[in-house]
Amino acid sequence: MSTPTNTWTLGAATITRIEEHLGVTNRTCEEYFPNFEREVLERHLDWVAPDHYSLQHGRLITSVHSWLVRVDGLTILLDTCGGNHKDRPWTHRFHQQNTPYLQRLRAAGAAPEDIDMVLCTHLHADHVGWNTMLRDGRWVPTFPNAKYLYSRAEDAYWDKRKNPAMATDQRHMAYEDSVLPVVQAGQAVLVDDGYDVTSKISVEAAPGHAPGHVIFKLADNGARATFCGDVIHHALQIYAPHWTHMADEWPAEGAVSRRKMLETCAEQRALLFPIHFGAPFVAQINREPGGFSHKFVAPKK
Ligand SMILES: [Zn+2]
Repeated sequence: MSTPTNTWTLGAATITRIEEHLGVTNRTCEEYFPNFEREVLERHLDWVAPDHYSLQHGRLITSVHSWLVRVDGLTILLDTCGGNHKDRPWTHRFHQQNTPYLQRLRAAGAAPEDIDMVLCTHLHADHVGWNTMLRDGRWVPTFPNAKYLYSRAEDAYWDKRKNPAMATDQRHMAYEDSVLPVVQAGQAVLVDDGYDVTSKISVEAAPGHAPGHVIFKLADNGARATFCGDVIHHALQIYAPHWTHMADEWPAEGAVSRRKMLETCAEQRALLFPIHFGAPFVAQINREPGGFSHKFVAPKK
């Protein structure tokens, strides 16, 4: 369940983590990052274990969570995890899940009706799942009063009506059950690079992990946050930004986006709010000669 110690404060905004999963990956390190380098892991063992790497299992630890952002009277849910009851034959971890995610959201003070906006960094299955839920055998939007914002380039890639090559890719199932019903309900808003979600949140293109992947940047009274989706998967990539992830659609572009994002976070002192980092989930990025370092930032309340 959500605990009182999962909320960060930034300017007038509060940001609460809503967990779906936290645990060891069902892949080896070399599967998870095809160009994994064991010496990088070994050099950082003093902080990666036990929250980011399990010595017992020899595997990385990852989280799957959403960020609940409250700012300017709006209640915003950013990335919606894997969802319940969905067929995901290509990814065992998310197949036919049944987690108390909505109870955790309620425990954080937000009922589905309270969500004003859903922001999706990209349209992979573990970022759109709770966009919809099963009601009377049909997938319907989980958040009846929300506008759902996602990238136009992502929509063009995953919708098999627009990209016929997707018809033979099993992963288009996530679009069909978690994105299309939102479009059909008239609740979807397609956005591009530079779009202003509110006066304090903007959209920036960060292609690579997915072709139309975007990040959301929050700025309030000098305080900044970057919600980076899957531009980075694991805190070790701060020290090895060239590591690509097994699910990167365009690995080389993804590495460029990751380095650029880390540079900008360091320059602008923007806290990084990823979706898959282990505890305490949020990091400050620092520039170092030849690379980057980080400091984790614990929740304030
Ligand atoms: Zn992901």
